[in-house]
Amino acid sequence: GTTRDEGTTRDEGTTRAGEQAPPMVLADQVCKNYGALKVLKGVSLEVQRGKVLCLIGPSGSGKSTFLRCINHLERVDAGRLYVDGELVGYSERGGRLYELHPAKAARQRREIGMVFQHFNLFPHRTALENVIEAPMLVRRLRRKDAVERASALLAQVGLAAKADAYPAQLSGGQQQRVAIARALAMEPKLMLFDEPTSALDPELVGEVLGVMKNLAAAGMTMVVVTHEMAFAREVADTLVFMDGGVVVESGPPRALLENPQHERTQAFLSKLL
Ligand code: ADP
Ligand code: MG
Repeated sequence: GTTRDEGTTRDEGTTRAGEQAPPMVLADQVCKNYGALKVLKGVSLEVQRGKVLCLIGPSGSGKSTFLRCINHLERVDAGRLYVDGELVGYSERGGRLYELHPAKAARQRREIGMVFQHFNLFPHRTALENVIEAPMLVRRLRRKDAVERASALLAQVGLAAKADAYPAQLSGGQQQRVAIARALAMEPKLMLFDEPTSALDPELVGEVLGVMKNLAAAGMTMVVVTHEMAFAREVADTLVFMDGGVVVESGPPRALLENPQHERTQAFLSKLL
């Protein structure tokens, strides 16, 4: 159809007429070393906004390190990493990189939610108090507003009845759902999950994956490190197989799972089945 601005067309991913929205995550040859150990050896991938990328690969392949780079917990040594069009942790002037002002880096980090294998809730605070903490401290929300939002988020993850329970009174699956609500309370534009169900008893895995599936259906952009292949197949838009610090293969999950092209992908998948 026609648009207001000089006939430029409007399509998906366009913010203003003619201005293409950047991908939510863009990694271009990202490298990370720990001393002499090269952990990420040039990781390149993209996550479009509203999409879900699942990351799989053997232990030690650099999956967590990659998520930690996105979330400012590690610093990239070479290559470029962008979130929503902004360089993570650096600013670029005249082709040179400068460390980002701490306040700006903190702002970037606030816009990203992360959920870990171990939920790390504050043990002496209730589910609700865990969820209102950051919005009150960091976003300066009034308690009343924070409580209202946290209650809605706890309802969203199926825990309306557990608002006043302490972590020790909750199952692992319930604690992880509180952790997801806590991350969502900061209204992130990107959610990172690092093996969110790996520490759970098998019967509790489904309730956490269900919450994540709903979040994806609601349009949240997500990067999920997981071994749950059924989840990846159903929910991921893109499945990425990493090994030895590089992306070996990526594509639509069904194609990658049913017809892996690389020997390393085949070997990894055959061990899972
Ligand atoms: P994955 O999540 O795929 O299992 P990681 O990103 O956790 O892999 O780790 C990749 C490699 O980096 C491993 O060899 C690990 O021992 C190493 N590593 C991770 N974190 C550190 C660290 N803080 N210091 C030194 N080595 C690390
Ligand atoms: Mg890991």
